[in-house]
Amino acid sequence: MFVCENIAVGADGRLSFAGQSVRALAEEYGTPLYLMDEDRIRHNCRVYLDAFRRCFRTGSMPLYASKANSFRRIYQIMAEEGMGVDVVSAGEIYTAAQAGFDMANAYFHGNNKTPEDIAFSMEQGVGWIVIDCAGELEAVEAEAARRGIRQKALLRITPGIDPHTYEAVATGRVDSKFGTPIETGQAEALLIQTLQCPHIELTGFHCHVGSQVFGEDVFERTAEVMLRFMAEMRSRHGYTAQQLDLGGGYGVRYVDTDPALDIGAKIERVASTLKALCASLDYPEPLMLMEPGRSIVADAGMTVYRVGSVRKIPGFKNYISVDGGMTDNPRFALYGSRYSVLLEASPAEKGETAWDVVGRCCESGDILQPNVNLPEPNCGDLLAICTTGAYNYSMASNYNRIPRPPIVMLHGSQSSLAVKRETLEDLIRLDV
Ligand SMILES: *Cc1c(COP(=O)(O)O)cnc(C)c1O
Repeated sequence: MFVCENIAVGADGRLSFAGQSVRALAEEYGTPLYLMDEDRIRHNCRVYLDAFRRCFRTGSMPLYASKANSFRRIYQIMAEEGMGVDVVSAGEIYTAAQAGFDMANAYFHGNNKTPEDIAFSMEQGVGWIVIDCAGELEAVEAEAARRGIRQKALLRITPGIDPHTYEAVATGRVDSKFGTPIETGQAEALLIQTLQCPHIELTGFHCHVGSQVFGEDVFERTAEVMLRFMAEMRSRHGYTAQQLDLGGGYGVRYVDTDPALDIGAKIERVASTLKALCASLDYPEPLMLMEPGRSIVADAGMTVYRVGSVRKIPGFKNYISVDGGMTDNPRFALYGSRYSVLLEASPAEKGETAWDVVGRCCESGDILQPNVNLPEPNCGDLLAICTTGAYNYSMASNYNRIPRPPIVMLHGSQSSLAVKRETLEDLIRLDV
């Protein structure tokens, strides 16, 4: 009935999430409020970990792409589950390190790492730097030489795959701002240059074709392009890769019409394609990496708001305004992302009227979700947006000087704060 099995109607007919009363949580912690179902996060990690154990060589590892939702507690959960992590900035590196995460299991990404970021990542002992382009290779080599270390690295290659997802999150095509393309010969040139760097230990290749990917065989096609490239590089330059990172991107279910992917089965199919290719190319099976972000945390999240004004403009539009908005969830404004919206008091009722659920920012584009059928709420009622665990808190802003909501973790029948609510004092903390 709902998009994820952690959403239900409680015995009182009201909304429950991860087995807990949404109303009780809103009363205890206030609104707007990010809820995170910790048990679901762990479950999602285990789907990947179990599939990796079944399908890939020992030493293969799923990495949580922490840009999806980055705060201290999440890195501790990843450490406890045995996941590696992707980090994309000094800020994410710092947060992971402060959480006690073993940075030897971290991979540092980004299309424009600054010299300071590169130095900081080495200082913090980040395991791998994923080198994006030739200019960055020089910067990494220079910094590693300065420190007298040999930095492990992957090269980010653009395989030329279009995953048919939103334009803004497609990253695997030749013209992407990320990575170095195979098609133009630049990937080969980058490899040759890397092999000449004495302070870089190249362990393999990385690619990432996009996000919210549902396509049948996108990862199989990507694996094939990458392995053919690897085999060609072996025959031309004598380099055999030990690792292959296929990136992240598996899609999640936001609305009823989205499919629910069986990720374990998906990985099995990638593995069988990989094994067949390795056999036919006589290439040693690489250690595999994948980088799920969204599919680890999205369906573990729910955002709870309080309804303020409810207004009807007859013949035009109907609005429900809530006490958050694009500051805590910019994804509809950015990508037109779809979400399921529920009223806490009557989650099972559809309602006749279509509403635009909008935020409180001074911006007409501050829409959380247009055109949702709901019963008419009253001012003060609670409204929930489902599947907000990915790219909500991590993309949140203080536009209009609106403080960011807290994150409350749900585990069994317990709840605990993982991130406190921002205060007005927090907002001026850096003003001088
Ligand atoms: C964003 C990103 C991911 C995670 O993508 P999801 O769609 O959240 O799984 C993984 N790897 C890289 C390099 C990324 O940029």
